[in-house]
Formats: sequence, structure tokens, C-alpha cells
Amino acid sequence: MDPYPKTIVRLIDLLNELPGIGRKSATRMAFHILHASHAYSDNLAEAIRAVKHSLRLCKRCFNLSDSELCVICRNPKRDPRILCVVEAPNDLIAIEQTGAFQGLYHVLHGSINPLQGIGPEKLKIEELFQRLQHEPIQEIIIATNPNASGTATALYLQNRLQPFPIRLTRLAQGVPVGGEIEFIDSQTLSTSLKQRTEF
Ligand SMILES: [Zn+2]
Repeated sequence: MDPYPKTIVRLIDLLNELPGIGRKSATRMAFHILHASHAYSDNLAEAIRAVKHSLRLCKRCFNLSDSELCVICRNPKRDPRILCVVEAPNDLIAIEQTGAFQGLYHVLHGSINPLQGIGPEKLKIEELFQRLQHEPIQEIIIATNPNASGTATALYLQNRLQPFPIRLTRLAQGVPVGGEIEFIDSQTLSTSLKQRTEF
């Protein structure tokens, strides 16, 4: 039993549900909030509320957005001829952080996984084909995860995209930068041998 009043136990319990937050950290956070200004705690509560109520999906690429179109789709400097297809908004953020991609995205919101009952109809795949009808897309980069369901999704897309007059590419899979060859699993190593590039 916590020796604290119910009001603070409720907050500790909720914070404790956050990933990576144990009971000790949750208690420390709850007391930090208790001692913080009213402005801070009101702001925090409002920010949590807004993330659920104001955040929506971009109607073009299905990235998370505050408005109809996300910041990337609204940016006129982005190249609308190249589309990078990812499974989740976090994948988009990871690619954005490289600064190496200037095209647009399409977020599928999952990957094909028959064991979990996730077929293509549960993903934003039809929406991708609708974009192909209306947008000047010349290349699609399939950047799904290199695991079983990500690969199944990539193959499904490859099949269905083949009739379209576009360049279809996939992220290269290979040795990680800074890695050591002797410690790389043999599947990754054999893929990188197959996908070797010219100097
Ligand atoms: Zn967008």
C-alpha cells in the first residue's frame, strides 16, 4: 500500500504505465508535478489532452499532423516525384532525421501479418494507389522493416505496383556503419554480398 493520498497515487499509477517508467520514477515525477507551478501542471495536462484530441492523420500521406496536411506535404520544397513508403510515423521521423531524403512519404500504419489477421485492406494501401492516379510520382521507395511482415508487405506492394510506369526501389540491406564483419549475422552478410555496389 502506498502511504500517499489517493489523488497522488492515481497520478503515480498513470505515470507508471508509461514505457520505461518504474514506480520510483513515477513517484518522483508525481511529486515534481505537485511542487511545480499551476501553469506548468495545467500546460502538461493540456498537452496530453491535445495530443489525443487535436492530432490527426495527414489526408495525403497519413503522417501525424496538426492540420489537414502535415508539415512535409505542406512544404513546397519537397519533391513530389519520389515517394517513400514506411510502416509507421516513427519510421518517417527516423528517415527525416538523416536529412538524406527530400521527397514525400506514405505511411501504411502497419504491415501485412496474416497470423495477427492484418491483411492489406487494413493498411493505407488503397490510398497509395489513389495517390498514384493523381500525383506526379515517378519513383516509390519501399522502406518497410526488414522482418517477416515488413518483407511480406514489400513483396505485396512490389507485385501490385509492377504494372505502373514507375521506378520501384527498396532500402539496401547490409552491414551497419561502424559494425564488424565477424559479428554480423550470416543472413545480413549474404544480403549485403548480393546487394554489393561499385566503388
Ligand atoms: Zn502528409
